[in-house]
Formats: sequence, structure tokens, C-alpha cells
Amino acid sequence: MTQVSQITGGASRPSMGWLKPVFPITGKAHYFIQEKGFAAITTQGRVYFWRSICGVDTVSTDKMPMFEPGNWDRCKKCEQKLPRRAAA
Ligand SMILES: [Zn+2]
Repeated sequence: MTQVSQITGGASRPSMGWLKPVFPITGKAHYFIQEKGFAAITTQGRVYFWRSICGVDTVSTDKMPMFEPGNWDRCKKCEQKLPRRAAA
């Protein structure tokens, strides 16, 4: 059973899930988990650090947020790791 959560407005942002970072422009959507402990504030706004469950690091800011995956290809490595993590 897949739970679909609807995001309304900018205040609610997921802390984990299938996301497509702004950089790199190409690539795939990964299953990212936000590393809350490393949030910082810069001239770009708040900065959020993310690590995908396949080991990809990326950063988002208030001005360059993470995007929902849409029709981007999803990372195969993340897909393989996800069921085991979600089983708990
Ligand atoms: Zn991945």
C-alpha cells in the first residue's frame, strides 16, 4: 500500500522521499533523506543537506529547492535498498 501525501504551500517540505535535486541538471531522482543536523543559513537562505540511500550527497536551499521526481528516472540502487529500509 502506497501512501500519497499531498503537499500544499511552501511551509510543508518533506524530510525524505523521492526527490530530484537542482544539481546536477541531468541524472536521476534518488530517495533522499534530509540530514537535519547540518542545516545552515547563508545568503542563499537556509541550506539543507541531503544524502540518498545509495550514497549521493546534495544540497538544497530556499532558492534552489528539491523537486518532486515527476517523470525523472528513479535510481535503481535506491529502489533496491528501499524495501529493506521500509520493512522496519
Ligand atoms: Zn540513488
